Amino acid sequence: MLHALGAIFFPHLCAGCGSNAIAYGQAICHRCLARFPETGFASQPDNLVEQLFWGRIRVEAACSGYYFTRSSAIQHTLHQLKYRGNREAGIMLGRMLGHAMAKSNRFKDMELVIPMPLFPEKEKIRGYNQASLIANGISEVLNIKTETNIIRRKHPTETQTRKSRLERWENVEGVFEVTHPLHVKGKSILLTDDVVTTGASLESCGDALLNAGCKTLHIGTVAFAEQ
Ligand SMILES: [Zn+2]
Repeated sequence: MLHALGAIFFPHLCAGCGSNAIAYGQAICHRCLARFPETGFASQPDNLVEQLFWGRIRVEAACSGYYFTRSSAIQHTLHQLKYRGNREAGIMLGRMLGHAMAKSNRFKDMELVIPMPLFPEKEKIRGYNQASLIANGISEVLNIKTETNIIRRKHPTETQTRKSRLERWENVEGVFEVTHPLHVKGKSILLTDDVVTTGASLESCGDALLNAGCKTLHIGTVAFAEQ
């Protein structure tokens, strides 16, 4: 009864399609989850995400859970997460990614999940870091800790959307700083974010972690957007 009343005042809608045919406590309906285009990358060595980092940084394994397709349920869900305050969608997407990793033997022995940091001012305006929510979902499934305070973004970066790969790399070079190197040294780390396109930001952040002595670096994002 209370739940039904709550639904009148705070309609609980699927982040992917807006349907109200959704289980309590879920952010995405079963129909959308079944339609999200899975990549299968978690158990696929040399997949397209891993190739982004070839010859650039030492990555143990990398994957994305879904292909980012336009005007689709996955795009709507990520938009809801990033711009509409739908935090639950982030946690749920993180859980899905965690399950994909759990099925593979390429994402074993990870000790920490680190979300891609946002510039603090930006996080304050948004109210949260969407990557942290994804990290929380992954943590829950893989039973490893999320650390949000050991690496920071030193200055804001312009949006990467309209930049070439070289410009994107120059835009983010050296913007990340490990503030607690002792938490990174000798650790097996999973770095996570919502979407990977060229991988420039993840590369720059991963580079900072590796320079601080991170033992093995894994990368996992919810979606992979082909350029
Ligand atoms: Zn839906």
